[in-house]
Amino acid sequence: MTRSEAHLLGPAEIRELADKLGVSPTKKLGQNFVHDPNTVRRIVAAGDVTSSDHVVEIGPGLGSLTVALLDTAQRVTAVEIDPRLAAELPETVAQRAPFGDLTVVNKDALQVTATDVESPTALVANLPYNVSVPVLLHFLEIFPSIERVLVMVQAEVADRLAAQPGSKIYGVPSVKADFYGDVRLAGNIGRRVFWPEPNVDSKLVRIDRRDRFDHAVRPEVFALIDAAFAQRRKTLRAALSGHYGSGQAAEDALVAAGIDPKLRGERLSVDDYVRLAR
Ligand code: SAM
Repeated sequence: MTRSEAHLLGPAEIRELADKLGVSPTKKLGQNFVHDPNTVRRIVAAGDVTSSDHVVEIGPGLGSLTVALLDTAQRVTAVEIDPRLAAELPETVAQRAPFGDLTVVNKDALQVTATDVESPTALVANLPYNVSVPVLLHFLEIFPSIERVLVMVQAEVADRLAAQPGSKIYGVPSVKADFYGDVRLAGNIGRRVFWPEPNVDSKLVRIDRRDRFDHAVRPEVFALIDAAFAQRRKTLRAALSGHYGSGQAAEDALVAAGIDPKLRGERLSVDDYVRLAR
């Protein structure tokens, strides 16, 4: 038995902890806890977590992934909205990864600001599925120090994040994630590794930050993306007429950026949106 297997949380430990805390997992907070040591090890490996990383984890829950992360990472800051789970986490870590450097932030991840977490280098998390995309984009925006992301999300959301221009599922999350870096699928996860079992499949998504664009253009780029996809079936000329004040103004901007005004927003890459914003 390796050192990791000795202290990672399995099904019996997860149920015991939940019983102790009187926690019955809620759908509202997307509480599906991983009770499979192999899965958390896989997540840490897929995130290429190293001993110099300061990992920020969103939604540590009962701590399965947190303990695995602390086995490798120098430091982990865990952001948990549920006060019972946030309060128990240091205790779980003290028992199972006593060498680990853990900070817990008991807060809604969407309300986290740059001062709550000190320059994280990686984001690794089994995200709460109901807020996965906004939380992911929020963290990429406020923490430019995050170089790598490895998140587990609902399979359908993973596919959307990694979709390419022109595909049916290419949408706002795909283009916005592309703004920050290279996005790719990093594996499938079965339902049975969770307690309780969710009624959707899950996938891992990896993002490697590549700061290709000046962050000053981000608000305008994201406004254009929102406008283009709000009326997905319209041409860009029509969809962006509100944004530019008129159809003609939208057409002029598109032509100046070398984009055919008759195209739909789903055909454009993030580079096109950035060119248009400039
Ligand atoms: N990481 C744990 C695991 O793999 O077993 C739990 C993952 S569970 C899918 C999602 C976790 O996110 C829960 O612990 C839930 O309480 C927490 N959560 C839900 N919404 C949140 C939010 N807005 N901010 C921070 N944590 C949240």
